[in-house]
Amino acid sequence: MIEKTRFAPSPNGWLHLGHAYSAIFASDTAKELGGHFLLRIEDIDIGRCRPEYEQTIYEDLAWLGLTWEMPVRRQSEHFADYEAALKRLRNMGLAYPCFATRKEISDAIEASGISHARWPADPDGAPIYPGLYKDLSLSELNHLMWEGRTYAWRLDMKKALAMAETKAGGPITFLEENGGPRGQKGRLPIDPMLFGDVIIARKDVPTSYHLAVTVDDALQNVTVVTRGQDLFPATYIHRLLQVLLDLPEPRYRHHGLIRDKNGRRLSKSAKDMGLRELRMTGHTPADIRRLIGLMP
Ligand code: GLU
Repeated sequence: MIEKTRFAPSPNGWLHLGHAYSAIFASDTAKELGGHFLLRIEDIDIGRCRPEYEQTIYEDLAWLGLTWEMPVRRQSEHFADYEAALKRLRNMGLAYPCFATRKEISDAIEASGISHARWPADPDGAPIYPGLYKDLSLSELNHLMWEGRTYAWRLDMKKALAMAETKAGGPITFLEENGGPRGQKGRLPIDPMLFGDVIIARKDVPTSYHLAVTVDDALQNVTVVTRGQDLFPATYIHRLLQVLLDLPEPRYRHHGLIRDKNGRRLSKSAKDMGLRELRMTGHTPADIRRLIGLMP
């Protein structure tokens, strides 16, 4: 078996020091395992991704001294693969069309009598979906479609987990080889119910991050998924989808996040330490490794 790791940035902003760390971590892991390192462009968000960001990803990573396998997979060129996976989940009765707007969700939470602050949130901070449009009759569904209302597809999480556990013959686990946010390591249980009925295909594109990443890691034979600990809980959903879609199980190595001097997570929007900026202001790749603590 050839070991494979990947770095999978979204070209919707300039890469920052946190991305440099993540990319080097993935590349070093591949070297340590005597395997290959892949770069994947996660550009399903066609409204926010821009060609200049993608081009700069290649330039930044090459400048850091990284090399990756060609050709690079660009998710926007493979929507049919994600649609096929969605279709399977739909055929299993695990996905339902969801017409809800943000406002409808917010109004439903309001109407529940529970304040927004106390309404349960998923690990990303988004409110758990209150179940609108979940149990529509066929005629209600037809009516809404006839009206031309746009819809996303949501996973019926309870049903999906029950089916996956039956398939797996018991609780589903994943192998964490580095460490979760609280140092969790080894064979760990998944808890996808924390996310509620997640979106698996958005209104504007026939997939979501969770579905595309799961399908691609399998299609590209990724054996070790390396990424930041912010995505540790997302692994619960990805393992669930792997079981449901009969995909192989990779190992996971989540890494700590690079923070600024105030302890804040770096973000693309806050213009934090953009690699391009640092590159153009005379910093060297060795400076970057020093800044992210990979060199004394
Ligand atoms: N595309 C995701 C991001 O830029 C990373 C996906 C992953 O590593 O699983 O945050």
